[in-house]
Amino acid sequence: MLVNLARTHRLNAAPLAPGPVLYWMSREQRVRDNWGLLHARELAGRAHPLVVCFCLVPAYPGATLRHYDFMLSGLARVEIDLAALGIPLALRLGDPSAEIPRLADELGAGCVVTDFDPMRVKQGWQRAVAEALPVALIEVDGHNVVPARQVSQKQEYAARTIRPKIHRLFGEYLEEFPAIEPQAAAVPSLPPTDWDALRAGLAVDPAVGPVALAPGEDAAREALDRFVSDRLEVYAERRNDPNAGATSWLSAYFHFGQLAPQRAALAAAASGRGEGQAAFLEELVVRRELSDNFCLHNAHHDTLAGAPAWALRTLDEHRADPRPYVYSQEEFEQARTHSRLWNAAQNEMRRTGFMHGYMRMYWAKKILEWSPTPEAAHATALALNDRHQLDGRDPNGHVGVLWSLAGLHDRPWQTRPVFGSIRYMNERGCRRKFAVDQYIERWGG
Ligand SMILES: Cc1cc2nc3c(=O)[nH]c(=O)nc-3n(C[C@H](O)[C@H](O)[C@H](O)COP(=O)(O)OP(=O)(O)OC[C@H]3O[C@@H](n4cnc5c(N)ncnc54)[C@H](O)[C@@H]3O)c2cc1C
Repeated sequence: MLVNLARTHRLNAAPLAPGPVLYWMSREQRVRDNWGLLHARELAGRAHPLVVCFCLVPAYPGATLRHYDFMLSGLARVEIDLAALGIPLALRLGDPSAEIPRLADELGAGCVVTDFDPMRVKQGWQRAVAEALPVALIEVDGHNVVPARQVSQKQEYAARTIRPKIHRLFGEYLEEFPAIEPQAAAVPSLPPTDWDALRAGLAVDPAVGPVALAPGEDAAREALDRFVSDRLEVYAERRNDPNAGATSWLSAYFHFGQLAPQRAALAAAASGRGEGQAAFLEELVVRRELSDNFCLHNAHHDTLAGAPAWALRTLDEHRADPRPYVYSQEEFEQARTHSRLWNAAQNEMRRTGFMHGYMRMYWAKKILEWSPTPEAAHATALALNDRHQLDGRDPNGHVGVLWSLAGLHDRPWQTRPVFGSIRYMNERGCRRKFAVDQYIERWGG
């Protein structure tokens, strides 16, 4: 087998029948380095055709023109790259719960392969498709180096508890990807996608517009190469300086599946960049895979209720504490707070679709301090994150917000007003870490 079966998981009990194979591409929107596509290709073999489908949901919660523009440009490239391998792309518009079973039926598919995704909305679609299909639905984890279902069977407490589990299996799973074999079997003829008509027909929020980041698999690989050759060396030392531009900016490519995290891990592991390599692998593998672990095992991952009990208790005890400032979601969104540093971070995100990771922590913690309740703070932080960050609506976003304002994967610290024992951050601390005025000047406070 090309694909380690430990990366696969059956989502229903229906049989795997001989016949065409349908790969329902979802989280992994790429042709190279894609375990799901590789598994579907090997199941199809020489005897049966493989068809790839992407089901576009016209109004995904929180997504804007910024997200759809980046995703559709990447998918147009996927269609071209698949065609070069003799594999057709069927683009369907609508609810996957109905569209995928319908297409599987039209094709007479013997099985459907899809991507692992721990987000509630995606799990809901997969459950509905699994129930509706008369044939096997097979999930493949193409997002985690160590598959999320293998690393742990429960929600992990913190990075320190998942790290040894990942490290133990890392060598086994960090393998080179095989190339995908072109398809010779006769395939059903499908009309090419009219990308312009598709874009014109979308009714998404145009207020948050496209950003400058080049979309697609090739652009993602170039960004990875540039990072490894130019910045990985200084990553350990400079990654927490928002002015330094030392991080990879790969998160949007990972989010849309235009780059396999495993490809980035292979490149870092082969780089020989000592400390930078270790620090990057910690973020890319341990921290990122901890987010998938949380969303997979915590049914409340998208609300404040997903936070640990000690954090909910301490936030509740400080619910009535006077807030120094209180802002509405609208005021936060328009960067109309008294803090020039906070406004600069919000502006960076609004304009570029990306906020530096260190500022994301400060940004979310201040939303807690300046909102009427912890619940309102959580809703505001998640909504603004998901609306403006190109990498938003991701397990990392849910975990990042809950880490910042509700102690997830953290521990209690010294007690303060509003925060209780949630870890605190302030502008003075930022000034000790980096040139705050330079950051404000760049983004406008
Ligand atoms: C409040 C808040 C909200 C966040 N929202 C998101 C989000 O919506 N989407 C998102 O992908 N990340 C989110 N993060 C995590 C992190 O800040 C970003 O992944 C990172 O800043 C992206 O920049 P980069 O690709 O240059 O990261 P690099 O420093 O180059 O790291 C490489 C990769 O490692 C992963 N990574 C880095 N830091 C973390 C972390 N703290 N937790 C988990 N994985 C990490 C990411 O996949 C990242 O692309 C959030 C963090 C916080 C505190």
